[in-house]
Parts: sequence; structure tokens; C-alpha cells
Amino acid sequence: MVLELSSDKKTWIRQPIIVVLGHVDHGKTTLLDKIRGTAVAKKEPGEITQHVGASVVPASVLNKITEPLKKYFPKLVIEIPGLLFIDTPGHELFSNLRRRGGSVADMAILVVDVVEGFQPQTIEALNILKEKRVPFIVAANKIDRLEGWKAFPDTPFLESVKRQSPRTISILEERIYQLVGKLYEHGFESERFDRVKDFRRTVAIVPISAKTGEGISELLALIAGLAQQFMKKKLVTSEDAARGVVLEVKEEQGLGTTIDVIIYDGVLSKNDLFVVVGKNGPIVTRVRSLLMPRPLQDMRMHEGRFVQVDLVTAATGVKISAPGLEDALAGSPFYVIPSEDRIQEFTRMVQEEVSQIRFKGESD
Ligand code: GDP
Repeated sequence: MVLELSSDKKTWIRQPIIVVLGHVDHGKTTLLDKIRGTAVAKKEPGEITQHVGASVVPASVLNKITEPLKKYFPKLVIEIPGLLFIDTPGHELFSNLRRRGGSVADMAILVVDVVEGFQPQTIEALNILKEKRVPFIVAANKIDRLEGWKAFPDTPFLESVKRQSPRTISILEERIYQLVGKLYEHGFESERFDRVKDFRRTVAIVPISAKTGEGISELLALIAGLAQQFMKKKLVTSEDAARGVVLEVKEEQGLGTTIDVIIYDGVLSKNDLFVVVGKNGPIVTRVRSLLMPRPLQDMRMHEGRFVQVDLVTAATGVKISAPGLEDALAGSPFYVIPSEDRIQEFTRMVQEEVSQIRFKGESD
């Protein structure tokens, strides 16, 4: 994973952070479950796919998944260490993922029920993505519900579609062009992914079924391919002090108030000094423990759901226990403070940053 050694500092390419958005019942949760299931089933022994608040599809899994696609995309070689999916779909979590100048999410999947088409929350999601300038692809979900569709579970879409009747294919085409039309109304050129010529200008639409698994390999391959082609620079991170965002603030039995943090940059260690924003201003405290989900095969109830680790590296989702987090706010920036003499500089920085934003629970 180490990319190069420059000025004695290690740098590496981290996983792109991906969110799933879309209208209620269009299949966001089912898609995330399917992706997690795929990652677990195809991972190498010992590889960790579960983070706190997020799941990883490791490079090894991406390689296996994209193998059957080589004949369509001969140039696709996985260069990123994997994809990190935020586990909770929807706008609210997404709006907590803010960072200065944009979003912690590097990319998004906009899920649209291919039968129902655009719905109010689809448009809301699209507007949020536009405003935050987050690149996205569209997952045209539930293709198995199209009239006459014959399901070929866990098959690439391009294989499955060859085996459908001309009538079903024309129904699919019609639905896709309805999506293309809607996207155009909102200012986006789009096209079915296998017909896109320039991915920087055209939003790719991937027909999938989160239920049967058709098209999931193309969806993952496309995200990986786009991330490594267009955002490699943004994905380079180093041994510097960690930066992240607080996804959730949670009371945990035996641990008190903890924060679930997505780290998008740097390295975070036990005892690190950090700042987050609370209801009454910045909170400066030290990491008491870093907690990751306990692997399933190692689930002994009396030991709790988490294991302690000494250090985590971007990109990751981690639970942090520390004194004084009771008032911490979800959506707050999270910065490690490199030395005590820089506390003021960092508290001022987060204060400035959050003066622009409103948190959940504050009045509109
Ligand atoms: P969310 O509200 O967007 O998270 O939607 P869910 O994932 O909860 O899905 C809503 C309903 O659609 C559930 O009953 C799912 O089983 C169903 N569903 C999701 N994806 C598919 C799909 O690809 N095909 C079919 N037939 N049903 C699906």
C-alpha cells in the first residue's frame, strides 16, 4: 500500500470514501448489504472489511469481482487499496460528512428504482451532490422487476442482459432513457455506463439488482476505475496528524460517550490530542481508546462488540473513547493536534470552520 517515501514521510493511496443516496425504498440498504456480503464472501482470510460506521471492499475482492469483466474493460487494473462505504445511507448522514471546501465523501452512488424512476428524494439527493460537487454514478436498481426479466444471480449486467428477450431489453432501454431525460433536466449528461465515452462529462448509469446481485460487479468496478483515474491525487495521504469527521456521537455501555469518526487523512494513535466541536464550543481531549468492531468469528459476548487497537490509518471508520465527549456534535470536524503549543491554533480553526454550518438540533 506504501506508494513512495518522500522527505522521510510515508505516503499512500487511501480508499475512496463512498456514500449511497436515493429515494426511500429504492434499495439503498439492500445495495449496501449486498456489497458487504460480497466483500465478506470474497475476502482473503484475515482481511478486515468491517469498520465502525463503514465497510471496506478490499482490493483483493475488487480484483476477483472485476476478473469476469476483463473482456469488456481490458485496461482495468485495481490500484487503490479498496473502497470504503459509509454504512448508513441517505441525506442525513451525508450532510454530516462535510469538510472544509466540500464533502468527506469522494464519490456517491445515487440509487434510483428503475421502475419508479425519479422521486422527490432522488432530486433532493441530486441537488445535494451538485452543491457539494461530489461525483456520482447512478445505480438503476431493481432491474429484476422489469417485465419479463430473467434473473441470473450475481452475474455481471453485461452478461445477464445478453440473455434477456428483445422486449425486456427495449423496456430496460426505455427506462434508462427516462433517467437520462430526468438527469438532463437537472443539468447532467448521462448514458448507460458501457456507452459512456468521457466519464468526466457523462454520468454513468449502471443497471443493477441489489436483490439478485446482477450488475454489482460493474458498479464496483466502475467506482474503483473512476476513483483511480480521476482522483488519485486527492486520495494520497501520509503519516501526518489525522483528520476526520464525527459521524455519530454514541453512549456505549462501559465506555461512556464515544464518537464514531471517519478518518480521511493521516494516522491516529492512542493518546493523541484532538479537537472536536461541542454544543458549547471546541472540546480538546486525548484518545483513551481506539475501537474497531470485533471480528465475527471472534465474537465472545463478555468481551463486548469492540476490540482496542493502538493505531489506525486513513481511510477508516473508528470509534473513539475519550474523556469529555458528552457534548460533542455529529458532523463536527475532527483534528489531531500535533503538539500542545498548537491547541489554540486548532481550536480557532475548528471554530471558524463550524461558524458557517448548522448542526442537527439547532434551529433553521
Ligand atoms: P431504502 O429505503 O432505499 O434503503 O430501500 P431498501 O433497501 O430498504 O429496499 C426497499 C424494498 O425494496 C425492500 O423490500 C427490498 O427488498 C426491495 N428491493 C431492494 N432492491 C431490490 C431489487 O434490486 N429488486 C427487488 N425486486 N427488490 C428490491
